[in-house]
Formats: sequence, structure tokens, C-alpha cells
Amino acid sequence: MKILVTGGAGYIGSHTCVQLLENGMDVVVIDNLSNSSEESLKRVQEITGRSLEFHKIDLLERAWLDALFRDHQFDAVIHFAGLKAVGESVQIPLKYYRNNITGTINLCEAMANHDVKTIVFSSSATVYGEPEQVPITEEFPTSAYNPYGRTKLFIEEILKDLYVSDKRWNIVLLRYFNPVGAHKSGKIGEDPKGIPNNLMPFISQVAVGKLKELSVFGNDYPTSDGTGVRDYIHVVDLANGHVKALEKLVGKTGVHTYNLGTGRGYSVLEIIKAFEKASGRKINYNITDRRPGDIAECYADSDKAHRELNWKTERGIDEMCTDTWHWQSMHPKGYE
Ligand code: NAD
Ligand code: UDP
Repeated sequence: MKILVTGGAGYIGSHTCVQLLENGMDVVVIDNLSNSSEESLKRVQEITGRSLEFHKIDLLERAWLDALFRDHQFDAVIHFAGLKAVGESVQIPLKYYRNNITGTINLCEAMANHDVKTIVFSSSATVYGEPEQVPITEEFPTSAYNPYGRTKLFIEEILKDLYVSDKRWNIVLLRYFNPVGAHKSGKIGEDPKGIPNNLMPFISQVAVGKLKELSVFGNDYPTSDGTGVRDYIHVVDLANGHVKALEKLVGKTGVHTYNLGTGRGYSVLEIIKAFEKASGRKINYNITDRRPGDIAECYADSDKAHRELNWKTERGIDEMCTDTWHWQSMHPKGYE
């Protein structure tokens, strides 16, 4: 199978490229490198001993996309490319709407013009808004509280409309919970620009001495220890979810929606403890106010992906922390 991976130089994309190559698929990556570096793709090739094709292309450049589809016959597209910082999306919403939504429309137009109709889209648990209960199944109502979340929700709706208009489309919506960890080799991992927004990269930068202390955003939530609970999933397990989705769904049609999470929630304090154990470092933290827009608890019911895709997670919280620390301690400055 020949797969186009948009945003393939990024965190989840690079790990997915490894799994695709190791499963014998041919990979073409496009990325504008706005939040990544080409180095990640060199490392992907080192890890796998296989080569992939890379083109520095922005999804906003329609003409380049058409040229790419003219040159290749893809079996499917995995669409990771997008901006993902929630806070920034509140500050500059139009940039997010243009990049994520217009970028996706351009991609789908190019796909339609060249009769490529299977797309696997990186959606997010953020589309469940504030769930009324946990665990969350795919049938839960959706809503969004910030422009980033709305881009995910709108793109899901756009892709569903596409299927309604033409039943040959094959739309796979993968709703990720909280991806963390890194490849076992320590050669690729998460390399956020500036100060990380997410918990795990923040903790690992405190551990490595790059940041002084973690702010724990609130300890008065209705959870076991008062801190927020999330479903952290190892990025390699997540990447494998994409391989399984392709294996099961290429050649089919319809709209297929799956949660990709472990089904188990961990609190912020539990993550700190697990990371201290994995790294042997003390994580300094203090409790601060809640972060606006945060929810108390969020974890997945991933039975559908288990049943239909034959996918399950294999890596627990200790491995997530150990692999994050391995990458971070080998690369205190990321890919720089
Ligand atoms: P990332 O920023 O590491 O990767 C995204 C890649 O897309 C980057 O390499 C960036 O350079 C590229 N890109 C952005 N806009 C582009 C454009 N217009 N044209 C071409 N390339 C472009 O992010 P990630 O964590 O790997 O996330 C991948 C996808 O998964 C994103 O769509 C994100 O919204 C989604 N997602 C991520 C998380 C998470 O916590 N990391 C959770 C849920 C969903
Ligand atoms: N969190 C925190 N300090 C940080 C970053 C995150 O206490 O510096 C908490 C946050 O309130 C949430 C959990 O860690 O309860 C996971 O946050 P993250 O931003 O990684 O994921 P999301 O909230 O988007 O699921």
C-alpha cells in the first residue's frame, strides 16, 4: 500500500511513519515544517532501515498538492497536518481556521480530483467537550469550547458531508486521547516549540532541568486526588491504531469513528509520581488555579477499536514515562 502522510514530520506523524514502514507500506510525507523538523524523518529512516519520500509542501498551496497526486497513486491518506495549540487558537482563530480547515478542504479536493477516497483523519477527544460521564464512547454528543476544538469538529462534519455527497468515500475519524511517550530507540519524540502546553512534555522538561517547576492546574476537581484525570496513550500504540485502521478499512466505504485511548485515567499527581519513578528525578511542582476550559476527567471507552480494528494498547504508564524520559534525556534540546 502507498500512503500519503500529511504532517508526517510531526510528533504523531513521525511515529506513525515508523509503524507504516515496518509494516511494509510505502510512505510519502508532506509537511510545511511549521512545527517540526526534517531531522525526524531522517531518524524514521534510520530506525526502520527503509526510505520514505518527503516533500516540503504546505496544504494551503493547492497547485503543489495536485502535482503530487498526479505523480503518485495513493491507496490512502493519513491526515495529521494541522495547528494544535489550544491557547494560540484562542488568540489567532483565523489562522487556525484557515490552516486546519482550508488545508483539509484543499487536500480533499486534490484527493477527489485524483480519485483517492480513503482518508484517516486525526481527530481528538476534545470533540466530546465536557462529557456527562466517563468512559466516553463514540456515540457521546460532541461540542467544542475553543477554535482548535471547533476545527476538529468542523472537519469531522465536512468529511461526513463528503461521504453523503459521494458514497465512494471512505472516512476514518480517529479521536485521540492524550498521546505521550516516544519511540523505544529514543531517536524520535515530542519536540514542542517554546514552553510546552501539555503535561507530559512539561514534566519531562522540569526533570531535565530546562524548566524550574510544574504548575498543577487545580486540586479541587471531583477526582480521586482533586487533580485532572486524563487517558494517556503511548504514541507507538496510537501509531499502531493507524496501521490497523488501514489494514481493516482500505477498500471499504463509509464513515468510521474510533476512540484511541487506553480506557484508564491517571491524575496529574499520579503522572508526576510515575515520572519520578521512571526518571529518578524529583519533579518540583506547586498547585495553582484551574486552567480555564479544563475538564475534570476524561477517558475513553475504546472497545469499538478493539472489536472492529483488532487494536489494543500494549504500553502502560511506566513505559510511557520511561520512553519520554529516554528521549528527553538524550535530547535536552529536542532535534536542535
Ligand atoms: P505536530 O505539530 O507535531 O504535527 C503536525 C504537523 O503538521 C507538523 O509537522 C506541522 O509542521 C505540520 N503542518 C501544520 N500545518 C501544515 C500545513 N498547512 N501544511 C503542511 N504541514 C502542516 O502535532 P502532533 O501532536 O503530531 O499532532 C498531529 C495531529 O493530531 C494534529 O492534527 C493534532 O491536532 C492531532 N491531535 C494531537 C493530539 C496531541 O495531543 N498531540 C491530540 C489529539 C489530536
Ligand atoms: N496540566 C497541569 N499543568 C500543566 C499542563 C497540564 O496541571 O502545565 C494538567 C491539565 O490541567 C490536565 C492534565 O494536566 O488536567 C492534562 O493536560 P494536557 O494539556 O496535557 O491535556 P488536555 O487537558 O488537553 O487533555
